[in-house]
Amino acid sequence: MEKTERAVKITAIILNVCSLLMTVIIFCFYLKFDRNIIELKKQNAFLDEQIEQQNQLTDDLSAVYKTKLEELDSYKDFEELILNEKEAYYNDIIDLEQKILSGETNKKIAYLTFDDGPYRLSESFLDVLDEYEVRATFFYLMKCEATGYDEEFSDVYDRVYRRIISSGHTLGNHTASHKFGEEGVYQSADYFIQDLLKNRSFIYDRYGYKTTVMRFPGGSGTSSMTPYIIPRLKDINYVYVDWNAETGDGKKVMSAETYTANVLNNTEGKNILVVLMHDYSENTLKALPDIITGLRKQGYILLPLCNRSVACH
Ligand SMILES: [Zn+2]
Repeated sequence: MEKTERAVKITAIILNVCSLLMTVIIFCFYLKFDRNIIELKKQNAFLDEQIEQQNQLTDDLSAVYKTKLEELDSYKDFEELILNEKEAYYNDIIDLEQKILSGETNKKIAYLTFDDGPYRLSESFLDVLDEYEVRATFFYLMKCEATGYDEEFSDVYDRVYRRIISSGHTLGNHTASHKFGEEGVYQSADYFIQDLLKNRSFIYDRYGYKTTVMRFPGGSGTSSMTPYIIPRLKDINYVYVDWNAETGDGKKVMSAETYTANVLNNTEGKNILVVLMHDYSENTLKALPDIITGLRKQGYILLPLCNRSVACH
């Protein structure tokens, strides 16, 4: 009997221990399971937040595009809008020119022009023009190895072109090579036109900008070939412009004060002023603020050239 009781007790103890172990094991499983669930919940909350953010972003973008589309029907319209705005601006300039010429107003116009660029210093010239809120005209060359320049077309030049165009300055064609002499641009009318068109394609292919105003290297009176070139410019939709005032920076290095005086003291009787300068000159850069403020004091409005200006031929 004692033996049986002991056996029952031992069995009971074993069963208790087993059930305790089972309970512990189940509890451990539950804890792990619960932790997994918490982790999953956390992950879901994170995903929900991400989705919410994405939706918000999409809504914001949609709102932007919707506003644009409500204003314009297509991207092409947007381009046309810019062109129309530009044309309206040029129309105002041409109207002002006519009023000046007929004596209807005592205002005057000055067209600041910068030749032979781009240069590394051009960005500083653009900074000054921005500061004084002036739009000017740049007659540029095709500066790369293909046209005999040993410098590579640089990021700086690329920025200069983009800034000129996006700021509303006029970009003009000054031939690709600007070379003089037997091998130069004036060797024949055909050669000149080809060189000019090479630069036109260069600017158009890179920046989508159509140049319509050109300037002869050295001016229209510089070569016996120009009378043969001028009639052909119309066929390729170009007009040319010379100048009736200059700093003199293309001739020799003089002080900024001299450059300023060269312009401001030579405006007598010139209601439409075209000023020749070069954006490589340190002293022209120094003189530029005084030239701008001096011309404004004399009653000049500073504007960019367009191909319908009376200064163009
Ligand atoms: Zn030049």
